[in-house]
Amino acid sequence: MLINQVTVSVIALLSLKLLVERLLNFANIHHNLLRRNEIPYGFESFVDLPTYQKSIDYTLTKTNFSSLCAIWSFVFDGFVILSGLMPCLVSASAKFFGTQTIGQVASFFLINFLFSLLGIPFSWWRQFRLEDFFGFNRSTQAIFWTDKAKEYLLCFIFGFPIFYVIAWFFQSFPRSWWVWAWAIFFVFQVTMIIIYPVFILPLFNKLTPLPDGELKKRLLNLTQLTQFPISEIFTMDGSKRSAHSNAFFIGLGKFRHIVLYDTLIEQMNTEEIAAVLSHEIGHCKQQHIRTNLIVEGVGSFIGFGILYYLSSSSWFLESFGFQTEYPLVPLILIFSIVISSVTFWINPFFNYLSRKHEYQADHFAADVLGQTESLISSLRKLHTKNLSNLTPHPAFSAFHYSHPTLFEREIALRNSTPNHNHSDA
Ligand SMILES: [Zn+2]
Repeated sequence: MLINQVTVSVIALLSLKLLVERLLNFANIHHNLLRRNEIPYGFESFVDLPTYQKSIDYTLTKTNFSSLCAIWSFVFDGFVILSGLMPCLVSASAKFFGTQTIGQVASFFLINFLFSLLGIPFSWWRQFRLEDFFGFNRSTQAIFWTDKAKEYLLCFIFGFPIFYVIAWFFQSFPRSWWVWAWAIFFVFQVTMIIIYPVFILPLFNKLTPLPDGELKKRLLNLTQLTQFPISEIFTMDGSKRSAHSNAFFIGLGKFRHIVLYDTLIEQMNTEEIAAVLSHEIGHCKQQHIRTNLIVEGVGSFIGFGILYYLSSSSWFLESFGFQTEYPLVPLILIFSIVISSVTFWINPFFNYLSRKHEYQADHFAADVLGQTESLISSLRKLHTKNLSNLTPHPAFSAFHYSHPTLFEREIALRNSTPNHNHSDA
């Protein structure tokens, strides 16, 4: 057993996170159960009691499931830290792969792969039990396991060379490696944003250009009106895996894509889809992707700075039972366990920023459309069809929700006065 000041402090941090998560879950469950027998004021016109109650049951089931996952990962992380399992694994794989840079990188991938396998039963259960019970699962065993294989393969294809280059810098430039590592990581993130819609997404889903017709005409008209040149709008066969509906905007510059789920097109009329598209264009026009990239860049710079500090402090790895001759792999393995107990506390900040973006995109859409009705009706459909939680506890939503609640968005929209300048209506 590795019990010392450092391991005990890390366990204390993980326990504190688990405790607060449990309290937030408890508050959210209680908050929703209190409201279960009556549709909240303002929602009576578009949701019936059985659907509303089903959305609460879905929320409660998901909350309980996430508690179970959190407890499991706490027990597992605690065991890994205190038992000395990690140093054993690292030295066993070093014997097998060797201690050259390539051997260290291979060790890292093997250990990460083994640990990630433990998460698969949870994602299987979520898809084929939880989502299935509420009628959302459309996936099959074949799709699920093929997806997993593709994910692992992509992780290896992209991750291995990048981690190899970082490891090379680590050995060649002991003082400045972390700045290089950060720069490589940042360039990789930007590259992924660009290549994701073109190369990665099509490996999992079929993207089809929206067929000619009334909907396409209306949407292209909207892109002209907002001076948002885009060559194609795609529909995606989201229904292959799930009945959940969504729309998103990905890519940068001329590589940007607007993707509408086929499930969204089934559920909404032309004007509602136009409202969803205006909201997505709003995200782009207001440079939200760029802002997020800058915030993440600053965050990862701080992260690599901390890694550098820990790599030059031998007491840190020694406390976890590692020899410090080849510190990079153990450092990243331990860091990836500890970091979640730190980032958890800054989640409300990221969610605050994301909500601000959502309000801005909503206002942009209202300005473009010259009215708020179609956006409100599309949001109502998105929330009811996806059984979204209409009444989350405020503290729970601060930590876990990147979007404002439906109620908050409606109030903000009703208080805004659409600017009719852009409108063709
Ligand atoms: Zn949005």
